[in-house]
Amino acid sequence: MYTGVQLSNKNIMFELSPLPFSKDAFEPHISARTFEFHHGKHHAGYVTKVNALTEGTPQADWSLEQIITDPHTSIGLFNNAAQAWNHEFFWNCLSPQKMVPLGDIADMIAQQWGDFESFCDEFVKAGAGQFGSGWVWLVHNGEDLEIRSTANAETPLTDGGKPLLVCDVWEHAYYLDYQNRRPDFLKVFIEELANWEWANQQLN
Ligand code: MN
Repeated sequence: MYTGVQLSNKNIMFELSPLPFSKDAFEPHISARTFEFHHGKHHAGYVTKVNALTEGTPQADWSLEQIITDPHTSIGLFNNAAQAWNHEFFWNCLSPQKMVPLGDIADMIAQQWGDFESFCDEFVKAGAGQFGSGWVWLVHNGEDLEIRSTANAETPLTDGGKPLLVCDVWEHAYYLDYQNRRPDFLKVFIEELANWEWANQQLN
């Protein structure tokens, strides 16, 4: 019986990946309400836009990484694809159990910053100093670790850095819980919430 359903050749769209933890896993540092908006509205919105902008184009079959790193990608598509990728990466950078740097990454941090406290100070400073919206990253540049901040949707993927860890410093990431106190949010992220197992996996 004909049901009227039309199947296209490709029906796989870019998808919003579920959070790898429950929304209340980070109370009181990050509220469930923040995740409801941040994942359910902001991240979801970027994925919806990527689908709308790629529909019927060859890019619909590409990966987010391909879209982000192709120099011919329009700025509108780049912004939404990079935001979709950055957010998925960010969720993986959060650990409900407090961790400390481990393995190779611990050695490299000790070598470059002397101790974890000095590293955290630099990370907070970089994120606090990012004017407007953006991200603060721990990147492997091929030789060393580097703390790098990027504006808006920009990501190290476009200039050869390998992202290990990231913190979202857009106001939507912290305003409900910290209001204007971005440095406090950054300090909690890097000292209490960072997923060092994930960061170490990216390095190796
Ligand atoms: Mn965000």
